[in-house]
Amino acid sequence: MPPKCPRKTSPDAAAESADAALKHIVDGFLRFHHEVFPEQKELFKKLATAQTPRAMFITCADSRIVPELITQSLPGDLFVTRNVGNVVPPYGQMNGGVSSAIEYAVSVLGVRHIIVCGHSDCGAMRAVLNPAITHQNTDCCGLAAPCRGGAYRG
Ligand SMILES: [Zn+2]
Repeated sequence: MPPKCPRKTSPDAAAESADAALKHIVDGFLRFHHEVFPEQKELFKKLATAQTPRAMFITCADSRIVPELITQSLPGDLFVTRNVGNVVPPYGQMNGGVSSAIEYAVSVLGVRHIIVCGHSDCGAMRAVLNPAITHQNTDCCGLAAPCRGGAYRG
């Protein structure tokens, strides 16, 4: 059974207390543990010792992007890596997170298909196109720096 949306919509997160935010997350985990996990017990048992994902999915860390939900994939279907702006730096320039994930997916897991999924209203891409909007005291979009030379300004 493909994943469904959570049962409750999130309240205004900006006004939510830390306790309320944590309670929402813990309640969701408990629903998963008591309702979803038992329904898919055999799948999770199989996945406990091996994975053979059909594709790698590279996307933004944006909270509105849920790869398994938008592709209606099951656990084990996608090997997912995320960062701000779904950036794939040139190999050798910033070896680490994304490069290591691609190397592991292809070399170890045998993944043959890699999907890079962007999205509308991406704050990282907005900052790449207009660096002046980036917060002055952060380097939150430093990861996207390799994109600047090739940014399309359509
Ligand atoms: Zn984004």
